[in-house]
Amino acid sequence: MARITRLFPKDMELKPTLAGRVNQIREFRNLTIRDLAKDTRFTTGRIEDIESGLETWLSSADRQILATALRIDPQVLKDVEVRAVEEEATITEVPIAVLEDLADAVLHGERDIPCPRCKTMLNCSIQEGIDLENNQIFLPMAYCPKCPFVLK
Ligand SMILES: [Zn+2]
Repeated sequence: MARITRLFPKDMELKPTLAGRVNQIREFRNLTIRDLAKDTRFTTGRIEDIESGLETWLSSADRQILATALRIDPQVLKDVEVRAVEEEATITEVPIAVLEDLADAVLHGERDIPCPRCKTMLNCSIQEGIDLENNQIFLPMAYCPKCPFVLK
């Protein structure tokens, strides 16, 4: 990190998010969004997405390109990236016990089951299938018409 901090004024505190940090360093380098888009060959829309927090992590190739254009070590960006999948997991996490109860209810023919996340009534069905040993099995299916919840 020593190598990086030397590139910035001593009292410059880097923003704690990827969006804030990219915006901060871009402005510090006196680059417009258009300049940065040109240097990275990203679209201006993509730079805007990154700076508005819509994109919260970068592939290592993209991170390298962006870091080079901003003249920083890629680690400066990596430090504040948040994996979308991790974010999603913390938002959508429904306890296993709740999922099991839900699956049970579907298999017992209940149809008025609220979504464990948003309480909208789920669309439920039972799918018939055959397992590997040729036994007939019934699979509970349920999905929320409102949020991304799916029983699987
Ligand atoms: Zn829902």
